Order: sequence, then C-alpha cells, then structure tokens
Amino acid sequence: MGSYPTKEVLSDLIDGTLDWPRVKQIMSSPKDPDRFAKYLAVLQERVPWRQRILLPLGEHLYIVAKGAKRIVKCGCGREFGDWRENWKLRALVYVRNTAESLEQLYPGPRCPDPQWCEVREFYCPGCGAQLEVESVPPGYPITFDFLPDLDGFYAKWLGEPLAEEMPAEDRSTALTRGWAREEGK
Ligand SMILES: [Zn+2]
Repeated sequence: MGSYPTKEVLSDLIDGTLDWPRVKQIMSSPKDPDRFAKYLAVLQERVPWRQRILLPLGEHLYIVAKGAKRIVKCGCGREFGDWRENWKLRALVYVRNTAESLEQLYPGPRCPDPQWCEVREFYCPGCGAQLEVESVPPGYPITFDFLPDLDGFYAKWLGEPLAEEMPAEDRSTALTRGWAREEGK
C-alpha cells in the first residue's frame, strides 16, 4: 500500500487532471504514511530554485528554508520575507471598492454595496500571478490567512523535527511599525 498513489498520480491530482472516480478513491483510501513527503517532492521538482520547501501555502506560494530562516517564496523566485510576517504586506494589491469595479465580479443584483464590502486582490510583484483574494469591510486590517506552527507539525505529525525551533508568532505588526518609523525619519 505504501506506494499508492504514485508520484505521477499525485502530480496529476495536484494539476486537477485526474478523473473524479480516481480522486474519490484516493480521498476515501487510508493515506500512505509518506504522502506528505511525496507531495513535497512533486512540488520541489516543479520550482526553478533549490531551497527546501517546508510547506505549500497556496497554488504559487511556499514556505521554504533559506539558511536558518524560513521565508515565504513564490514559484517564480520572488521572496516575501519571514513566514511570520504576513506575506500580503509585500504583495501588489488591487482594491475593488467602487460599484463599477465590484460589478465586474458580481454583475447585477448580486453586487455588494461598496460601503460595506471591498475586494482585495493580491498579486506577486515578480510574476504577476494572483496569489489571494479577500473580501472584507472597508478599512478592515489585511487578513493573515495562515500562520502554521511548523515545528509542531514537523515534530508531532511527521516525527521529523526541524533543526531549530522558532515560535509561530505573528510579526506583521513589528514589520509595519518598522515601516512607520522609516517614514517618520
Ligand atoms: Zn511570483
């Protein structure tokens, strides 16, 4: 059982090219213990850089080991800083906060009221890929979608602790505070 699904099948699963009965079969079957390692190996083969992928964050983003650091990196190579700083703070953002721009997404009566809702689209400054979209009330702080406890995951779930423990604490405010200080100079 340990070898199913194969790396090739897993690769098709990631691309969404497997037919539904096959996908359902994989979903319903017990997970092979090395599934995550195999998954990472498929992803690692697809990126043009060598740093070790620790965890994928989405279709284009990964948390990778860069020396002793853990950073967020796009498939294109663009780096977004420490994984505990919200990567969105280093992305390009397009905000839809007018009826006209929201209408493009929600034509007709489904269009939200821009007084109550804005849509923020985040893009990679390196390759232009759309990385994330959030829909929030105007003025709402940029959401930090996912701050994983990498040490907990590797030590307790995978049984392969990472070299150096780093607490998964949100450092986004320290980053923006630093920018504010620079602006004040
Ligand atoms: Zn990119």
